[in-house]
Amino acid sequence: MGRLRKSLPLILVLFALLLKQSLPQGFEESEYNRFVNEGNAPEIHCSRERSRAAWQIIQDYLTPFVERERYQISKNCRLHPDNDLYRDQEQHKIHVAEFHWKCGYCKKSFDDEKFLDQHFVGRHSNLLNTTDTKCLADLCGALHCDFVLSSKKPKSKCNPAAVAKNRLLCESVANSCFPVSQGPSASRLHEHFLRQFCDAHTCTGKDKPFPRGGKKSSGVFYLAISILTLMLLPLFYILVFLYQREKRSGTQELRRIIKIGKKPKPS
Ligand SMILES: [Zn+2]
Repeated sequence: MGRLRKSLPLILVLFALLLKQSLPQGFEESEYNRFVNEGNAPEIHCSRERSRAAWQIIQDYLTPFVERERYQISKNCRLHPDNDLYRDQEQHKIHVAEFHWKCGYCKKSFDDEKFLDQHFVGRHSNLLNTTDTKCLADLCGALHCDFVLSSKKPKSKCNPAAVAKNRLLCESVANSCFPVSQGPSASRLHEHFLRQFCDAHTCTGKDKPFPRGGKKSSGVFYLAISILTLMLLPLFYILVFLYQREKRSGTQELRRIIKIGKKPKPS
């Protein structure tokens, strides 16, 4: 008993060490700061967060329509995955569980996505192709990233010059990604792109971005329909069962009445 009491602190320390090893770790701030302060991180003027928002908008509100048309976006189009500086790194994020992210390059674990982002800056920035890859965040003005990123609508007065600039950028993306001369699919997607993204670049505030919906809204719709069907199906079967039972007992009652009526008279 005395020996157990003596070794208890040692067991506790070992247990704590084991727990620390098995849990996902946050990125050591010092590692990140040291790397950036030493000037090892290349200066990249492209927001990772806004690039991610732009990518998500494309995925939600454009890709489903492009897939439906079986249209191939060319590399000249700035929406092409190759023109997103962070695409490769984003694809190397492994979301294991709610508070568990893993680096796809070196398999290191993190408890928050932002630590993984910092890890990419500190450890894997050499993998970024900064020579000719364009920054997807530069299209944020055209794609309404602020509309998605900020839940509250900005109350600032509408700036007609900025709106006109975004509209021009939006239309140039539509023209380069879906040239009308390339056939009916490209024409339909060109039209779709203008309605979905460019029409809302006005100061009237009448047109909202993404009026044609996207992946998310249809996903929720199908989920609701599925749940409703699953709930109504058993109810339908119960009703059919009750109806059949009622019918059967009704027939038996009738048979009994007929039997009584046919009883031979005693002679
Ligand atoms: Zn890594």
